[in-house]
Amino acid sequence: MERRSKSTSWSIEDSAELYGIREWGHTYFDISAKGEVVVNLKDGKKTKPVSLAQIVKGARDRGTQLPLLIRFGDLLRWRIDELNEGFHNAIREGKYQGAYRGVYPIKVNQQQEVIDEITRYGRKYHYGLEAGSKPELIAALAYMHDPEAYIVCNGYKDEEFIDLALNAQKMGIQVILVLEMPSELELILDRSKKMGVRPTLGVRFRLSTESAGYWSGSGGDASVFGLNISQLMRVVDHLRDQGMLDCLRMLHYHQGSQIPNIRAIRQAVTEATRVYCGLVQEGARMGILDLGGGLAISYDGFKGATSASSNYGTKEYCADVIEAISEVTAEAGVPHPDIITESGRAVVAYYSVLVINILDVNRFEPAQGKVELGKDAPPLLLNLAELQEERRKDGKLSRERVQEIYNDAVYYRDKLRTEFNYGKVCLRDRSKGEEVYWDIMNWISTKLESVGHDGSQMERLSSVLTDYYYGNFSVFQSLPDLWAIDQIFPVMPIHRLKEKPTRNAVLSDITCDSDGKIARFAHSNAICDSLPLHDPEIGSGEDYMLGIFLVGAYQETLGDLHNLLGDTNVVSVSIENGKLKYRREQEGDSVAEVLSYCEYNPKELADRFRVLAESAVVSKRITPSERKEIMGAYEAGLRGYTYFET
Ligand SMILES: *Cc1c(COP(=O)(O)O)cnc(C)c1O
Repeated sequence: MERRSKSTSWSIEDSAELYGIREWGHTYFDISAKGEVVVNLKDGKKTKPVSLAQIVKGARDRGTQLPLLIRFGDLLRWRIDELNEGFHNAIREGKYQGAYRGVYPIKVNQQQEVIDEITRYGRKYHYGLEAGSKPELIAALAYMHDPEAYIVCNGYKDEEFIDLALNAQKMGIQVILVLEMPSELELILDRSKKMGVRPTLGVRFRLSTESAGYWSGSGGDASVFGLNISQLMRVVDHLRDQGMLDCLRMLHYHQGSQIPNIRAIRQAVTEATRVYCGLVQEGARMGILDLGGGLAISYDGFKGATSASSNYGTKEYCADVIEAISEVTAEAGVPHPDIITESGRAVVAYYSVLVINILDVNRFEPAQGKVELGKDAPPLLLNLAELQEERRKDGKLSRERVQEIYNDAVYYRDKLRTEFNYGKVCLRDRSKGEEVYWDIMNWISTKLESVGHDGSQMERLSSVLTDYYYGNFSVFQSLPDLWAIDQIFPVMPIHRLKEKPTRNAVLSDITCDSDGKIARFAHSNAICDSLPLHDPEIGSGEDYMLGIFLVGAYQETLGDLHNLLGDTNVVSVSIENGKLKYRREQEGDSVAEVLSYCEYNPKELADRFRVLAESAVVSKRITPSERKEIMGAYEAGLRGYTYFET
């Protein structure tokens, strides 16, 4: 512990500010006086902070290794409360006549625990489910038995999907079949006639309102889903002809996910409510307006309208929605509809945290002290050494001079490399040149603050002068959106937060793909290309652990098996009478499992390897007992975790 009290001027408050935990962490995550990240969990009627490091220790004592995905049912329940109570309050305050009946879109996190909580805990709100495919509907019908909640069926539907929905409706469940395209109508009407059920229909409408999120393409004119206005009118006419306009109950739209700007949300609600009122005036029965998803959370902790951010909270969202719908319906003289939203991200993102350990570090460390140059050193090396000498005049150098030194150093270094390629400079001299060069760059980087920088190349120095920390995880498996769409997730150490971070690092995963890294972080109130971290003290016997937060939405099942790294270990954690409870422990994929997904047969792999081992015995390269040992290790490898094991 001694070694950790070096910097006395650093406190947990400094860490909280640096990493922004109180901003992106909502009220769920914070830092304890011990300098550890805590999650607030429910213990009976009280809320208690629980250290993540403590949770990890307990899991490890039980034989569960890192990387570990930890799920918190309490956080999921709080999010369900926040959304539903947000609407209930806004409805009360706005004297709104309709009800709120949210549905949870299964695709955002399909885990059984999530569906179980939504249907069991959410029952008091008549919280329903959104199914976008046949398998999702099949899962939904096993859990959702509340006759007052809705199941909204989006996505393309075959006969089997439609029949299942209509049969569920026969049994008293409110299943709404949403038309995504005009051609679905005939099939639905045909099946309902055959089954003697009047379907509950919704239509998905393509709004013209543009929205400003990463996913804005999934709503609006460019969307592949939904009916445009003339298709919508044709559906109305067709239903009227069939005497079935009373079956049209719901208007649905989906603006896209993570809409960071409340103004865009308001615009869309306003347009959709106008369309809704028009449908009522056309004689459709209606009664329900479904606003889809899009409720954003702040991943970077900022309150801006950029894609990782959100310039509003749940409370404001609910109030604005109620207000916008009230305004438009009042003007049109149409009764208030019941409101459905399909918020997924905002409900489940907080629910899981990935904890990883740092395996190794590639440190940016220019040679300490002077590089010895002989009299016969190449002139280019001597030039570089002269630049290095200017360090003595440190305080007196102008910005211009620093820039010149930078330019010259880059020039000499590049020239040295060229001459090496022509065989004019030897390997050792080239190495010396690089060392002097990096020493100069490191020195200049410390001067950037005082001399100021103006967006020149010199400014990019700080990103070159960072360490690489190798984390025990795969971006492709655990954070697919980080790779696919440059999503930002909060990353920070889960312990040692009383200590000042002394290094700047980029985080690399253990795939051998150059995309397998985290190099954009939100900290110190900006998006930065490195993250301040502590010296991980590799080899000290104690792991340096980072948490990657807000990974509950979309990350778990979009992940892939790049480099054959499989699912991580998973555990759900709660507390009871101050004691940690570990439930639903799931071992991550073993090597054999991952290989069998790619159609290898683990037994055959071992057989084939044994052939190699036996021929080595025959040719006397190894002894029979060595063969036994080697085979044992191979088979243990097959049974083991795909990540780094300690
Ligand atoms: C994905 C999706 C959602 C969920 O959106 P969030 O932004 O996660 O709330 C809701 N509705 C539909 C139709 C979707 O495709």
